[in-house]
Amino acid sequence: MGYHSSRMHPAPFKCRFAPSPTGLLHLGNVRTALFNALLARREHGIFLLRIEDTDAARGHEKFEQALQTDLRWLGLDWQEGPGPEGSAAPYVQSQRQHLYRKHFEALEQAGSAYPCFCSERELEIARKTAIAAGRPPRYSGRCRRLGADEIAARRAAGTPATLRFHVADGDTVEFDDVVRGPQQFASSDIGDFVIRRSDGTPAFFFSNAVDDALMGVTLVLRGEDHLTNSPRQILLLQALGLPVPRYAHIALVVGQDGSPLSKRTGSKSVEELREQGYLPIAVNNYLARLGHSYESNAVLDFAGLAAGFDTSRLHRAPARFDEQQLLHWQREAVHGADMAVLWSWMAGTVDAVVPEAERMAFVEAIRGNLLFPSDAWHWARVIYSEVLTPSHAAHEVLRSTNDDFFEFARRALEKHGTDFRALSQMVKVDTGLSGKALFQPLRAVLTGELDGPELVKLLPLIGPERAHRRIAQALSGS
Ligand code: GLU
Repeated sequence: MGYHSSRMHPAPFKCRFAPSPTGLLHLGNVRTALFNALLARREHGIFLLRIEDTDAARGHEKFEQALQTDLRWLGLDWQEGPGPEGSAAPYVQSQRQHLYRKHFEALEQAGSAYPCFCSERELEIARKTAIAAGRPPRYSGRCRRLGADEIAARRAAGTPATLRFHVADGDTVEFDDVVRGPQQFASSDIGDFVIRRSDGTPAFFFSNAVDDALMGVTLVLRGEDHLTNSPRQILLLQALGLPVPRYAHIALVVGQDGSPLSKRTGSKSVEELREQGYLPIAVNNYLARLGHSYESNAVLDFAGLAAGFDTSRLHRAPARFDEQQLLHWQREAVHGADMAVLWSWMAGTVDAVVPEAERMAFVEAIRGNLLFPSDAWHWARVIYSEVLTPSHAAHEVLRSTNDDFFEFARRALEKHGTDFRALSQMVKVDTGLSGKALFQPLRAVLTGELDGPELVKLLPLIGPERAHRRIAQALSGS
């Protein structure tokens, strides 16, 4: 069974994407955003965007802007978050320090959190010793045992302190993961963990969980790498008396080598895909099927993708990125796009070459041979260049075709103009050639290529003068 709003959650369905703006979005993380946006649409709920920039040194304004541009480009509009705002604003974590402070205090007062003065070095040694002794490398609980006087003395001495959450031993944290089913974690394996760094900033476990609760998030759908964070976050929320969302941990996307997809493993950023000329609908159709299956193999728009999205159709095994599949969806998307969309998509590259009156005929002629705007540029040159530079293969065909053939072609052009059917029929009768022997040299002389869009559509765009010059050029042997 997929996820459905249940009686246990009377609050409106709300899910979120919570990126840390430490780099450009790549296909792995934007897929998480897509799944959330689709689910929100399907459940008639809210898709929320939260910027997790508490790691001040790494959070960059430019990545924050870039990720919003990327999400908007893909049509993954958020109903709550930076921009639309909402009742839980602000949605940028660095602006929420006052809220975190309140909850740190509440935990300290309840005796659920305590200052820890252990230095990084001490912790590292303790970790290594534990591992060497075959024990789990959890925090020993040393500072938990400090008395009020000792704490005051260390504070007075200016010793830096983190704040640790106290995890009671002997408990079991259980939750039912929407994708992975029932989960159980022993609290004694977890150990007391840091919720506030010594510089005062909240640690991920804390701000992430507290914000989900304060923002009314009902489902946290995120990468499986966060699965083991969930028991910590559940304990925290319970200690704070805040609502615990449901969790859905999705399998990661891996590269061809099986390691998680990331910028480092060569995954393209969304920005690169946009610049290359991928259509958003192609990217969405590919990603929605990366680790999730649909009944339909057709290109679906956002509403269609949302209608067919079901958490019960998420795969548990990692999904492997496959560029060929992405290209497949690009091809499908280009074939299905309407002419005006295609024109505005390619206009930047061909606008200066294609006459305004011929725009739609140009798109119609080449759409079957298009994957990216750079292909449009190629065909624009083939059609509109004054001087053709034939491909190597076309050059070979032209070289082995005798002049009589071109002479017949010239006469046919004079008689029939750019009506390619009539023209080729006349050349056929005059030369006695047919099939490849007829069409290859005709295509080679008219376009400088051996493959491409239908000549019936190309020739009117090439026009009688250019066609004439191209044939004359072949006749003169240049
Ligand atoms: N900022 C975290 C990340 O980018 C969010 C994880 C989550 O979705 O809870 O990994």
